[in-house]
Amino acid sequence: MSAIVNCPAFGCVGGAPAPCPGFAKKCNRFYCETHNRDKLCIDCKGRKIESLKAGYKQLFDNLWKKSHRTALTAAVILLASVGLLLLSAAFVVIFSHGGGNSHIRLFVGLLVAGVAGLAVSLFRYIVNARNFMYESSVELDLTNPGFFNYYVERRERIDQITSSSN
Ligand SMILES: [Zn+2]
Ligand SMILES: [Zn+2]
Repeated sequence: MSAIVNCPAFGCVGGAPAPCPGFAKKCNRFYCETHNRDKLCIDCKGRKIESLKAGYKQLFDNLWKKSHRTALTAAVILLASVGLLLLSAAFVVIFSHGGGNSHIRLFVGLLVAGVAGLAVSLFRYIVNARNFMYESSVELDLTNPGFFNYYVERRERIDQITSSSN
């Protein structure tokens, strides 16, 4: 087996090359002092990053799905149900009693309370999902170093998409 005794970085003539142990497969190259990436040559390091990112993407997608399920707490469901109930009560009032002054006031009151209930429920839901994602990412970073950074990057991109679509 012939080893390529120079650094694979483009145009690098760096001295004192050390053998690269390879990532996932055997690497017969050497890396120089400048292009030493965690004791891997830049090619192997690149493959390692790609592989980590693919794993992180999988982890992130799983978390994302799980966060929606966990965010739907009893409190969120209860608030949403109460909100819907108040809204339907509002329409029952206006349709069964017509437009008398006191009924209008009751209708508006129920409407506002119903919408508020739904809004608070939705807000709680989003906060729950976000907290779950955040806490899980911190935890996962212990076993998958760098995952938290990946999560922050993805979250920023999601924030950009959701804010530009408004
Ligand atoms: Zn080099
Ligand atoms: Zn290598």
